[in-house]
Amino acid sequence: MNAQPPAALPARTQVAVVGAGPVGLIAAIELARHGLQPVVLDAKDGIAWSSRATCISRRSLEILDRIGAGPAFAAKALPWSQGRTFHRDRLVFRLDMPHGTDDRHAPFVNLQQFYTEQFLLDRLRALGGDVHWRHRLTGITTDPGSATLALATPEGDRSLRADWVVAADGGRSTLREQMGLDLHGTAYESRYLIADIEVEGVDRPVERNVWFDPPSNPGSTVILHVQPDRIWRIDYQLRDEEDAEAALREENVRARLQAQLDMMGITAPWRLVWRSLYKALALSLDSYRHDRVLFAGDAAHLVPIFGVRGLNSGIDDAHNLGWKLAMVARNAAPAALLDSYHHERRRATRENHAQAIKSTWFMSPPSAGFRIMRDAVLCLAAEHPWASTLINPRQSAAHAYDDSPVIQPDARPTPAGIAPGAPLPNLRLPTGDRHLHDMLAPLGFTLLVFLDRLGPAADALPALADMNLHIVRIGTGQEADVIDRQGRLAERFAAEIYAAYLVRPDQHIAARFAQLEPSAVAAALDIALARTQASRPDGTVAVEQPVLVPPPNNPGAGRLGQESLEHVFAAVSNGIDAAGGAASAPFLARLTLLLAGAVGDADRVLAAVNAARGKSA
Ligand SMILES: Cc1cc2nc3c(=O)[nH]c(=O)nc-3n(C[C@H](O)[C@H](O)[C@H](O)COP(=O)(O)OP(=O)(O)OC[C@H]3O[C@@H](n4cnc5c(N)ncnc54)[C@H](O)[C@@H]3O)c2cc1C
Repeated sequence: MNAQPPAALPARTQVAVVGAGPVGLIAAIELARHGLQPVVLDAKDGIAWSSRATCISRRSLEILDRIGAGPAFAAKALPWSQGRTFHRDRLVFRLDMPHGTDDRHAPFVNLQQFYTEQFLLDRLRALGGDVHWRHRLTGITTDPGSATLALATPEGDRSLRADWVVAADGGRSTLREQMGLDLHGTAYESRYLIADIEVEGVDRPVERNVWFDPPSNPGSTVILHVQPDRIWRIDYQLRDEEDAEAALREENVRARLQAQLDMMGITAPWRLVWRSLYKALALSLDSYRHDRVLFAGDAAHLVPIFGVRGLNSGIDDAHNLGWKLAMVARNAAPAALLDSYHHERRRATRENHAQAIKSTWFMSPPSAGFRIMRDAVLCLAAEHPWASTLINPRQSAAHAYDDSPVIQPDARPTPAGIAPGAPLPNLRLPTGDRHLHDMLAPLGFTLLVFLDRLGPAADALPALADMNLHIVRIGTGQEADVIDRQGRLAERFAAEIYAAYLVRPDQHIAARFAQLEPSAVAAALDIALARTQASRPDGTVAVEQPVLVPPPNNPGAGRLGQESLEHVFAAVSNGIDAAGGAASAPFLARLTLLLAGAVGDADRVLAAVNAARGKSA
């Protein structure tokens, strides 16, 4: 590890990165990989040895591989793909996330955030960069061509002029405040206490465990994740009337944790390592680009931790922003490319918030109606698997930038293959243990071509290489870079329709082509770099599309289907709230009669009434 102190603070830089949390560090690594020397500033005096974000998604691991930090994570983090959810002492839901032989990474790994930050700092240093610790941003002034940062440093007040600023200074962003920008969205009332404990000699499976209303902590919700170094993360919900200060006192935390461990039958000695309070927030800036200042990570948006979208969405932000900002700073693309950063990542936040709202229905019910409905689902779930599907935590997943201004949509949209805007799936290659992402250009754009589909168009390949494109030939013959004898990749990419795919530096598909014509590829590159606008099939330019929140894949949701089930859940919850207090029982009575009339089958209605009667609240 290169632990050289950073060079003296310059007076001017192309890019300043404010904040050396995981998001600022990844942005800095991306910029350094693209040949820039960003100045990275942080108010702290080093890595924060607090735990915080634990669960890193498969998509984030792909990004960490991409920036060269993957091996350190693979060596330390704990992979997992399953979970068990209990109501009181009964198992009510099993989480089982897809994890096939094609996947290089598990759906999630667990790792303390300080390791994440240390591994990223090591990577930045390996690229010749470093962090100016104890450099606190105190103010900013902007003019049309640059921004000037006011800094409080150990050497006194300093200023730094930057062509571009990455604002990655976290949830309490000073830059946001100094620029008079507000976050908008929803703040949830419910609070969680988050603790890390070290447990001696207990080999616990690495999975997500949740207990609703456990005997150890009645009325509360408890979440457990196992981390490296025998550390367990335990989160528990505080009661609404509970005094947070008192709840955080060590003796009270220890008593609550001991009750939980007793309930789990854990008798091994344990040590309290870290504790903190947490309140779920779903807030965002309206715009992530303010001329020369680009907001990323918690500085741009806050996402409830349920579904683990906080750190993971920040990693995605930094990865999306890094290559675009590097190209703009080097004058290889117009500044409009940075508007696409806002467009793509703001949409991702809207999707994250929409998903998180549904996660909070269970983890932190927003009203009495939602709590009544949540408890009803929990009571029914063990015997009615269709109801248990509502308990799915909707873990963080990759985003597709299908409405982006820098993505060329299909002329004739079809669901076949991998759609423009989606991340390139990191499929295992037919030979050896390499994956598709290993074949991509380390920094620039890649063109995947399916040789067997090209015919005479193969003659165009040398002309394409002149466009500074890395070309990966996939086919059945020896001339291919990837030999796909069984045609597995060709099938997945619908090569019979699309002969070539243009892949961006952040692994998202920029465009795909039925015929390989150099002029079409050149046009798609111009769109991907915001030199021209994409033309949509309907002749319009890109506009924000409504956010789609795909339900978890839930064949168990029964005849109603997961999405309809969720609508019913929310509608009845809101109905109970609208009726209010004592009037909710008459509302539910009317609802039952109306539903009985709609079902029109007395036996089924009576069976349902009897099933409901057998349950305690
Ligand atoms: C208790 C807790 C548990 C969490 N659990 C999860 C989880 O399980 N999964 C998940 O995905 N996310 C989780 N999160 C969220 C996750 O920790 C954040 O999303 C993540 O840290 C955001 O990274 P960031 O780099 O944007 O901000 P931060 O990590 O907050 O980093 C911001 C950096 O900016 C620096 N800074 C601040 N102000 C200034 C200034 N004026 N000048 C210079 N530097 C400054 C700070 O010192 C800090 O280093 C959790 C958060 C908390 C609080």
